[in-house]
Amino acid sequence: MERSGTRGAAFALAGLGVVLVAVVAVTTPWRVLADAPAAEPDPVRDFSAQEIARAQAFDLATSVPSYLSLGVTLLVAGVLVATPLGARLLARLRGPWWLRTLIGVVGVYAVSLALKWPLGMWFETVLRDYGLSTQTWAAWSGDRLKNFGLQVALSAVTILVVVALARKWPRRWWIPASAGAFLLTVGLSFAYPVLVEPVFNDFTPLPAGQLRDDLLAMADRDGVPVRDVLVADASRRTTALNAYVSGFGATRRIVVYDTLLKEPPKETELIVAHELGHAKNGDVLYGTLVGGLGAALGTCLLFLLAQGLRRRTAVPALGDPRAAGLLVGLISLGTIVSGPAQNLVSRHIEARADAHALELTQDPVTFIAMQKRLATRNISDLTPDPLEYVLYVSHPTAPQRIGMARSWALLNSAEEP
Ligand SMILES: [Zn+2]
Repeated sequence: MERSGTRGAAFALAGLGVVLVAVVAVTTPWRVLADAPAAEPDPVRDFSAQEIARAQAFDLATSVPSYLSLGVTLLVAGVLVATPLGARLLARLRGPWWLRTLIGVVGVYAVSLALKWPLGMWFETVLRDYGLSTQTWAAWSGDRLKNFGLQVALSAVTILVVVALARKWPRRWWIPASAGAFLLTVGLSFAYPVLVEPVFNDFTPLPAGQLRDDLLAMADRDGVPVRDVLVADASRRTTALNAYVSGFGATRRIVVYDTLLKEPPKETELIVAHELGHAKNGDVLYGTLVGGLGAALGTCLLFLLAQGLRRRTAVPALGDPRAAGLLVGLISLGTIVSGPAQNLVSRHIEARADAHALELTQDPVTFIAMQKRLATRNISDLTPDPLEYVLYVSHPTAPQRIGMARSWALLNSAEEP
């Protein structure tokens, strides 16, 4: 392999790797209730045999199309990074470099969308069978196409910028590209609530009344400035219950699904108390900055791997439009490979938000009732197998969260719920 700037990129990769691992190791709340007596998660204690069986059946039914879809992603990416097929197809195109690059990116995504469409329909059919989806096929297709459009637009901009930089600085493009990846991550996370979320949902302020007063009073008591709690019209898509915090600074917002408004207000209060924990700890900003570091690191790795795979994939130079497939394939694999690390950190951050909710409300009994309701209504996996846990599970499981509430109660000498 020729020495085309690979030394500098390798040093940057190692440096960023050390920084990222150190930051995550130091700032992740690995042990949330350090002194707590352990309460082992035990689904049998809190869920009926019927509920457990239903969750297992649902998990089995959804995991088949999920794994097949992951398989398609791996297959498409594998072909693009390990064979010359992508470059050979792109070599047939004529026109300016940017147009050929754009067609390459859109083409790869379109093939992937077409291959995954029936798997998506399969998954949606399972959701309907279990009463979780409220969508028509037209609305479902619209959602999917909107998602596709957003993904293609983001990916096209990224790849066009990379190819443009590689044309200008074939050996050093990883430097501006890494800085760009960091800034893009931060910018997207900031703009997400105002640019992306409204594409899929309408948001309205929580109507005046007891619940709104109670939630704002709780935020006030918590010392978290919250101007408003927004309600998303999630019921147009799902019967699932959820809430989240997104954005930071001027775009930060706490959102509850409209499906929650029919549930007991005390439990909704506990869900919002969890979200206040995220807001108070600045979890979105923290995740964004760590994600930005990861994106910069990933860009150095992209440079090194793409250089190394050029010959195998018949890509003459990364500034050539024929590199589009290789770059898309590598980014797609990078996203999959980084998932387990993100989930690992996320599960601990979620546990800290749970602990915050318990501290703020001092109400482990309602906390447990809320976790049971969330798990049964959303048909959560109560006992994910190790592979699922690593690949997909971003929150502690319901039995783990309930176990933690019992530990908290013991630690705070409340009666064990
Ligand atoms: Zn959370």
